[in-house]
Amino acid sequence: CGIVGYIGFRKADSVIISSLKRLEYRGYDSWGVAVKEGNELKLIKKVGAIGDVEAYDVGNGKIGIGHTRWATHGKPSEKNAHPHTDCSGKIAIVHNGIISNFQSLKEELEKRGHVFKSETDTEVIAHLIEENYSGDLLSAVMKALEKVRGSYAIVALHAEKDELVAARHKSPLVLGVGDEEYIIASDVPAILDYTKRVVYLEDGDVLRIHNGGYTIFHDGKEIDRKIEIIPWSI
Ligand code: GLU
Repeated sequence: CGIVGYIGFRKADSVIISSLKRLEYRGYDSWGVAVKEGNELKLIKKVGAIGDVEAYDVGNGKIGIGHTRWATHGKPSEKNAHPHTDCSGKIAIVHNGIISNFQSLKEELEKRGHVFKSETDTEVIAHLIEENYSGDLLSAVMKALEKVRGSYAIVALHAEKDELVAARHKSPLVLGVGDEEYIIASDVPAILDYTKRVVYLEDGDVLRIHNGGYTIFHDGKEIDRKIEIIPWSI
């Protein structure tokens, strides 16, 4: 029920796990984190509360994603906790919301040879990104999202790419613009330890954070969204 993405100079796992704790008020039954280290993804998935942030180590990578899950499709379990990965294990995504046409997408993907590891609606997105991936994560995410119906805020990560791609449709998503670091989250409290400068994404926006900068796309075209300064702290 909460998502976080981090790209910057800090150890991503600590930032992500402490930011997930800031989203605990939204409720959750399980949680998980994926961090890019070298050209591999390191993952942890847990049932229950996060507890002590220092108790976990997901490697030294500086790019990662995290999720607190409020199960809608598939019981709360480690297997169903996000991040979800594709068949290659190179692509990981976190998702808030519900993919209403996941059943038919899943059947089609299975016919084309995809093997599913969870009972979630979310996992179809990881496989759709994989099918559309040929070196460009942004366009693969955009093409995957053309097929899905329902609601989503997502962040996608590829083991071989120093970038994050995020998108929203009927689920909240905010970008925190720090100094040489960016943090994406479902809500502002997860960001305020790092920056007060935020961009509220709108439905249909796709965000790419890459090369020390970010770009927002809407209907396939680059657009500007205002940076707002949050006047309060936590
Ligand atoms: N529908 C997804 C699931 O059940 C995401 C739930 C959420 O927003 O936490 O895994």
